[in-house]
Amino acid sequence: VRTSATDNYEAIRQGFQAEAMAHAGAVVAACDQTREQLARHQQHGWEAALAYARAVSPWHAERLAGLGVDAAPADVPTMTKDDLLANFDRIVADPRCSLANCEAQLAAVKDRPCFVDDDYVVVTSGGTSGRRGVFPWTRSGFAGIFLSVSRWALRGPLDGEPPRRVTSVGARSPRHATAAVSMVFGSSGGETSFPVDLSVAEIVAGLNRVQPDLLVVYASMVPILAEESVAGRLTIHPKVVSPTSEPLPPGCREAAVDAWGVELMNAYGTSEAGILASGCCAAAGMHVNEDLLLVEPVDAEGRPVGPGERSAKVLVTPFGAGHALPLIRYELDDEVVPLDEPCPCGSPFWRLAEVTGRADDLLVWGDVTIHPHVVRSVMSAHAGVLEYQVRVMPDGVDVDVRPSGRHHVDPYALHFELRAALTQAGLPDPRVDIHRVAAVARTDMGKLRRFVPLARAS
Ligand SMILES: [Zn+2]
Repeated sequence: VRTSATDNYEAIRQGFQAEAMAHAGAVVAACDQTREQLARHQQHGWEAALAYARAVSPWHAERLAGLGVDAAPADVPTMTKDDLLANFDRIVADPRCSLANCEAQLAAVKDRPCFVDDDYVVVTSGGTSGRRGVFPWTRSGFAGIFLSVSRWALRGPLDGEPPRRVTSVGARSPRHATAAVSMVFGSSGGETSFPVDLSVAEIVAGLNRVQPDLLVVYASMVPILAEESVAGRLTIHPKVVSPTSEPLPPGCREAAVDAWGVELMNAYGTSEAGILASGCCAAAGMHVNEDLLLVEPVDAEGRPVGPGERSAKVLVTPFGAGHALPLIRYELDDEVVPLDEPCPCGSPFWRLAEVTGRADDLLVWGDVTIHPHVVRSVMSAHAGVLEYQVRVMPDGVDVDVRPSGRHHVDPYALHFELRAALTQAGLPDPRVDIHRVAAVARTDMGKLRRFVPLARAS
């Protein structure tokens, strides 16, 4: 029996998909514009982003009040995740996407992406910093996330033929961007997403059923799935394999070539700003989606870094109007290295080497290895958790939790949910200690290490 909610879900999905289809041709063609065309495009995009932020957001309007309409990026103050979370309702473009309403809608969804009316999809993230964030996306913004990865595939290995079966192996929760993108833009009625906390045998069986042509997968799962293919248990023939969310494990590219005959298409994305850079399958490294957003790699003092230099942060400004959360020079704690060699694919878009700053370590106890997502998915379901750190102990985990001022956090619920998740993932009878803290310890570089491995005896 089909319920009306099911029909509505399909209708909403189709609305998002139609938005993506409407722009696919132009977005693919844009990869081959000249540097001069691109420079004009960027100037226009930046000016439109500033004008839009001022028009829809009182917070931006106040901060940008002293600046001319033609202000250059370097003249505009940066903003942090703290700014965003503390001023959310004065930044968001539509009151329907207030933090309270986004949270209420998120609490009501279970196995489907979270929509606000037919117009927005809401995703959550722990992000690099371990602080939970809530991010609404408009239809056009969310279609842009999908297109900014898939256009490089369409222009390269897919040869203009849209992918028919987009499948992800990643987050269980459709509140996470990776799963939400696959569910919204994946094939109708089919299985579009396999959670990384299923057993490998279940994931393999699922992928064999679906036969994805575009597979989006947590980077740490690529070597595991490649091994399953070489062993003959996984029998898929993807045209594109796009690792996300984690740094590439060593040997990952070679393993994908052996298993599927494809060059991995790496992507560097965030739940708040979308896909900053995407691989093109012609060479290692990723093209910055510089017609869609301004990406500024900077050092610890905020000065631009040059080719070959490692950044301390990245500032990102998604271009144009039409974003639910306008971000202007938004700070990400990511280390990137700009490249200056031209790409053999012919696109003049500049490139970044691999991203090294988004490491989530696997949790390891002797023979037991648990994906960090098992913990992330529990933590991110609690609105009261502002940030956290998990330390692997010989008999379980110690978890520092910094509660949010706005929401209640229930340490007993966290305790029982983490115990259940770790047990299910293969750690028998784990000890789980939750500590409330005023701030989570950071490294000398100001970074938060979300998962601290068991200290090794040396
Ligand atoms: Zn290229």
